[in-house]
Amino acid sequence: MTPRIWAAVTLVGLVVALLAAAVLLVPWGRPPAPRSDQLAALGDLPHAEVARGREFRAALRPGGYGALAIGLLIALLLGLTPLGAKLVSLVGRPFGDHWIAQAVLGGMAVVLVADLVTLPFAAWRHAIVSRYGLSTQGWGGWTVDLLKSYAVSAIIGAVVLLGFYTVTRLAPHWWWAFGAAGAAALVVLLSFILPVLVEPVFNRFTPMEPGPLRTELTTLAARDGVPVRDVLVADASRRTRAVNAYVSGFGPTRRIVVYDTLLREAPPAEVASVVAHELGHAKDKDVLTGTLTGALGAAAAVVALYLLGSWGALLRLAGVESIAEPRAFPLLFGLITVAGLVATPAQALVSRHVEARADAHALALTGDPATFEAMQRRLATINLGDPDPPRWEYLYSATHPSTVERMAAARAHARGGGG
Ligand SMILES: [Zn+2]
Repeated sequence: MTPRIWAAVTLVGLVVALLAAAVLLVPWGRPPAPRSDQLAALGDLPHAEVARGREFRAALRPGGYGALAIGLLIALLLGLTPLGAKLVSLVGRPFGDHWIAQAVLGGMAVVLVADLVTLPFAAWRHAIVSRYGLSTQGWGGWTVDLLKSYAVSAIIGAVVLLGFYTVTRLAPHWWWAFGAAGAAALVVLLSFILPVLVEPVFNRFTPMEPGPLRTELTTLAARDGVPVRDVLVADASRRTRAVNAYVSGFGPTRRIVVYDTLLREAPPAEVASVVAHELGHAKDKDVLTGTLTGALGAAAAVVALYLLGSWGALLRLAGVESIAEPRAFPLLFGLITVAGLVATPAQALVSRHVEARADAHALALTGDPATFEAMQRRLATINLGDPDPPRWEYLYSATHPSTVERMAAARAHARGGGG
């Protein structure tokens, strides 16, 4: 068998594994609460707050989708015309066209151009978020955050680019196999190190102070049978008024993180309700599942790019000889951008089901649907969410059930009809 046939067989295997993981690990059998209950919940929310959330979301929309459209346009322009390859050559020229300069600096230049083109949209977003009082960050802090995220991306990007093009040189026919294994390993590695190395670049994390709340939360975790090493508080307030909590990492790096804004804004019972939701993620190993499917998806993407890369028409459009050369990176970048946009609704669908299961876990663990519902209302009010977003937007990108779905789920639980 030729390397191409092996690659096709591997791709089929990876896609089957991905579908099997999706079928077996995603909790599909949990229909949302009836629409009539959702509409009743919507009717119970203060009209002015719903209107303000909708106004805010509408104000963000043109910039958000504008950035997606322009980002896609520039990725296609660089990838499907010789412009991108010329940019990579240009960046490598002062270094005698050395492949490392082309691979690392050229690749980073392509990503930087795409970032710079969407930068005005990011600034537009910050202006709106500030105008609505959700951001507590001035332009100085915003710029520092932006530069930090560029620096983090540049470090990870340089390592990935150097590794990838080293492999394509050493194994011209089998790089896709090493690349797929490397991409999968990278996803697992990042899942371990991002919480520990990267999150502290943006926020300070301190263990929650001893007191009734901490005791309540650790007791809750113990009752749930979930080993929690620590509950950390993030100083999110230096950036935002928004409230949130999340679980990240797994194994020795797993931690539950609560925003300081949440502790400030919500009574302890509601904080417990949020943490109970996070414990659900830990108990059901959602981070591990996400990492596993992410690793399979990344490996499949590398093999698919290799197979697409033998399509002569694409190479001719990009003005390159082979998908494996650094000058073809803009083509890879364009294909990855398109794949990301196409994959968004599928990822959102999976995420909503996983989040609904964590909600059901919180309701069962706390046995307090009234507090759960109050927390959902508070989340929507403070975060200026649309409690019942437009259907198309919900289907395309909502990672969580809507506020009215979550309220209706709590009411169903209270009636004894839910998990
Ligand atoms: Zn969640």
